[in-house]
Amino acid sequence: MKTTLPLSHKRPANFSRFWFGAAYYPEHWDEATRADDPARMKAAGFNVVRLAEFSWDLMEPREGQYDFSFYDEQIARLGQAGVSTILCTPTAAPPRWLTVQHPEILRVNAAGVRMQHGSRQQACVSSPVFRDYSRRITQAMAGHFRDNPQVVGWQTDNEFYCHIDECHCPACQQAFGEFLRQKFGDDIGALNRAWGTAFWALTFGSFAAVLTPRRDQPTYPNPAHELDFKRFLTATVTEFQREQVTILRAEQSRWFVTHNGLFNNIDYRGEFTRDLDMLGYDCYPMFHFNPAERAYSQAFNLDQTRAWSGNFIIPEQQSGPGGQQPYFHSNPEPGELRKMTYVSIARGADSLLYFRWRTCRFGAEEYWCGILDHDSVPRRRYAEVQQVGEELQRVGPAVLGTHVRVDVAVAGGDFVNNAAHDTLPFGLPHPRHMSVNLHRHFYERGYAVGLVHPTDDLADVKLFCVPHWVVFDPAWVTPLRRWVEAGGVLVIGARTATRDANNNVVAETIPGSLRELAGVTVEEYGKQNLPAARPLRLTLTGKSVPTDHWYEWLQLDRDTKPLAKWKGRHLTGKVAVSTRRVGKGQVIYVGTYFTQPVADALLPALTKLAGVKSLWPGVEVVCRQNAEKRLWFFINHQERTVTIKQPPRGVDLITGKKTGKTLALRPNDIAVVQAT
Ligand SMILES: [Zn+2]
Repeated sequence: MKTTLPLSHKRPANFSRFWFGAAYYPEHWDEATRADDPARMKAAGFNVVRLAEFSWDLMEPREGQYDFSFYDEQIARLGQAGVSTILCTPTAAPPRWLTVQHPEILRVNAAGVRMQHGSRQQACVSSPVFRDYSRRITQAMAGHFRDNPQVVGWQTDNEFYCHIDECHCPACQQAFGEFLRQKFGDDIGALNRAWGTAFWALTFGSFAAVLTPRRDQPTYPNPAHELDFKRFLTATVTEFQREQVTILRAEQSRWFVTHNGLFNNIDYRGEFTRDLDMLGYDCYPMFHFNPAERAYSQAFNLDQTRAWSGNFIIPEQQSGPGGQQPYFHSNPEPGELRKMTYVSIARGADSLLYFRWRTCRFGAEEYWCGILDHDSVPRRRYAEVQQVGEELQRVGPAVLGTHVRVDVAVAGGDFVNNAAHDTLPFGLPHPRHMSVNLHRHFYERGYAVGLVHPTDDLADVKLFCVPHWVVFDPAWVTPLRRWVEAGGVLVIGARTATRDANNNVVAETIPGSLRELAGVTVEEYGKQNLPAARPLRLTLTGKSVPTDHWYEWLQLDRDTKPLAKWKGRHLTGKVAVSTRRVGKGQVIYVGTYFTQPVADALLPALTKLAGVKSLWPGVEVVCRQNAEKRLWFFINHQERTVTIKQPPRGVDLITGKKTGKTLALRPNDIAVVQAT
């Protein structure tokens, strides 16, 4: 089952069919309600449910006494209705007997407070005791369900690191020392040199003496120490997951294995995802309270997910307003639930389950609303899901094996750069937030935009923007140079390539490993802390554009030309943006942050230079394609009917009709045109 294709934004998710269903919690309902559910799911077009991610205490009520009879019964009954099952390892919610017997498995936060039983994710993934119990329940479940034909795949745990993404318990202290000992080949001198421990008397005499870094105790930790701690956190959760995956695969090779992210301190482009068949992304667009921003934010998050490893499963797609103590989401208006589903599929979902089948009547999420309300009465959300289920009979099989077309890309999906920013933010926006400004420019104008890692397949990408990635691995430069020489347009933002893999500042003049390719050196840099007090502007394609956050004064190599100059303070007349021809392509270095005004002023000329064309402005348009076919998703987010002129010739899989000269879409409506 496991695919050997490398992680890539173009990798399909390797499903045998499009799985469609919901997270289901039969343990929360009485027998009469449970008995009604499978037929109603079938009527909604479901072919799968996800079960048991928080049910460890039901399956192992006392240590070593396993009882899977409840799920045997549910899985069989669902199977009779044609609904298969994805099971979960239930380690996000260990049973009370375990935490009472072994309180040492509870996580300790940076303030030194030990977590307690009562919510979830309270156990530490580096605890050898917890790992032992995790392997045991995984083995017991895998062995029991091995020959059950209705069980098609697994989700490991649930949303690793969603509530607490670091731990400082004694097991972590010890494991961190061991992690570093291996990394530095048992040479503490190598660690001292790599971390620059000559500063503030940090020199270590042994690996055992290295503590997990805690902020504000009393002040700032060493950024090299912090970055390696984050590497430790992802390595630890990867090992924890690998133990489960190894057991599952050994028991049954036909199962697919996934996990539902995305959260901090996990490298989803590293071994964590290579151990899985495909990544999962839990999609909750209603966390964005502003309806005008919601569609875009969903699109960006999905593109960000695809950047890590390719197409994915949505184990949880929002199906109603979510509510927890501090917030309560808006209820999707009629049509919005269906529309959000298609945005996910258009941008890379190869299977999708809603969260959740029915709203629970109790517990911390008793108002996290599902497809059905508490009273089980099917209302408009159910009707909408049913409509999607009917349409997916045609759309589901068509999308499998395709990837999302990307003409213009923003660099994304890099663990070290996300982590490195968090260690030294300086009050500057996260590079991820700056990439929104670039990505959004293209999204709003109807380009085929995505996020792509610099080491990924850039063959079809014509314009590639790198937003302020402070750690730029020198090994990435040569393939990138080749891509530029072949005609690519590369845009590099300020502060890129200024730190090394240890999070120390590079020894060379900046922009370090990109200096030669860009043909610039940074003569001076500074933060713009209050731009209104001392404004700086640059002139780009005839427009005077305000800048924010950061300035760099560039010196140019002989073959590099100025594209924009500074206006303001002592920088007037100095170069702010440069361009250099390299082979058939061009490298543009931008000595400031990619704010929206800068992105909007800069990018039109560069898209022209790169020869990229807008697809269809005015609607969200995404093309999923492979060598055999093209599927065009048109999604109307406007509150009025939009008419698309000259749509692709083909058949709309939603209506079954051939396309004509125009295609009219009502508000929230969708067309999926399979081109002929
Ligand atoms: Zn721990």
